[in-house]
Amino acid sequence: TLSDRLADTFKNLRGKGRLSEADIDATAREIRIALLEADVALPVVKEFTRAVKERARGAEVSGALNPAQQVVKIVNEELVAILGGETRRLRYAKSGPTVILLAGLQGAGKTTLAAKLAKWLKDQGKSPVLVACDLQRPNAVQQLQVNGERVGVPVFAPEPGNGTGDPVAVATASLEHARRTLHDVVIVDTAGRLGVDAEMMQQAADIRDAVRPDEVLFVVDAMIGQDAVSTAQAFLDGVGFDGVVLTKLDGDARGGAALSIRGITDRPVMFASSGEKMTDFDVFHPDRMASRILDMGDVMTLIEQAEKAFDSEKALKAAEKLGSGGDFTLDDFLEQMQQVRKLGSLSSILGMLPGMGQMREQLADFDERSIDRIQAVIQSMTPAERADPTIINGSRRARIAKGCGQTVSDVNQLVDRFFEARKMMQQMARGGGIPGMPGMPG
Ligand code: GDP
Ligand code: MG
Repeated sequence: TLSDRLADTFKNLRGKGRLSEADIDATAREIRIALLEADVALPVVKEFTRAVKERARGAEVSGALNPAQQVVKIVNEELVAILGGETRRLRYAKSGPTVILLAGLQGAGKTTLAAKLAKWLKDQGKSPVLVACDLQRPNAVQQLQVNGERVGVPVFAPEPGNGTGDPVAVATASLEHARRTLHDVVIVDTAGRLGVDAEMMQQAADIRDAVRPDEVLFVVDAMIGQDAVSTAQAFLDGVGFDGVVLTKLDGDARGGAALSIRGITDRPVMFASSGEKMTDFDVFHPDRMASRILDMGDVMTLIEQAEKAFDSEKALKAAEKLGSGGDFTLDDFLEQMQQVRKLGSLSSILGMLPGMGQMREQLADFDERSIDRIQAVIQSMTPAERADPTIINGSRRARIAKGCGQTVSDVNQLVDRFFEARKMMQQMARGGGIPGMPGMPG
């Protein structure tokens, strides 16, 4: 994964306060590989890495993050901005039914998506109707009817009076039908071909001209990888579209299609479809897609929380103290525990980490209550003991245990843990950064 590769890249980078040009280049190279592996189109990759490098050069040094983490943060922010910069909701018609036209290749997932979208709208109090304009593929109308039934949304299909073999006539008739039956959203499902061809494009364009849609949504299979760009471009030229729906995100595609299409067509991804169930559907979440493209789990959330929780001034002071040979005391230890608690519920943090190694194991040892116990034990010590824990002998341990209502073995455990932590802190002071962060050498 990208985090593994970044860890390698930054092996020699510990403790640097600022990224050099060479460091930025090395990171940019890794990001570039990650994007290409996620099937992002080359021109988009180039432009993206250029923008990231520019921002990395001007980046401020952060107290809570080491330089590598900072670059990852920048990359993620840029990705989220591009994927969601101008995310907008569906546009509804000011009067009369809102018309949504679906276009895309055969097998992209249009018919499935039509029903999911209908359900989603219905759950928001809308009254949608589905319109079967794929009259090419045998059973296409029936497939829409089956899906419509699953979500309890009526389907307007060709029959005498609705227009028969002509999708444009069916689409036109559906608008009149929707007005008459007081449906406020009309979702038009269209035919696709396995490849882009002129006749199909023309048909979709004719339907578009007949119904004047409020939204044309381009439906695209996230698994088609690099083909996403040429397909999207063909539909943009042939039919035009306002937004994109990515389907089959339950597959193992890394989702680079989202970034490519956004980069090439400048149209936002609006919805995501992720399975065969009618509920496997959601509005598009740029942050989730960014994590997926980078293959880094929810690391960014963690980095942000770390930044929030760690008072950078305190971190600096602690680092200075350790660096100058000063000692890490039990008071510092207690403060550190309290910082850890500020990070949020430990279990939720652990859930975010793809592979946090050392720190994860250490965190797994604690829970909220054990932090309370640690606090009680430390508060039962004298200032001299806290400042120099090496003086805590057997009789002192017994007194401390009594003072806080814990057992001597609890006190022993705490003191052991403290000495381990001190060792770790001293390593950190030499290395910089939060130990065990993915992308970072621990
Ligand atoms: P259309 O030709 O564009 O109308 O595509 P369909 O809606 O008929 O979908 C083609 C195939 O992909 C069908 O077998 C669907 O069940 C399947 N499909 C559609 N959306 C998804 C999805 O999000 N995930 C998965 N795994 N399969 C999907
Ligand atoms: Mg279909």
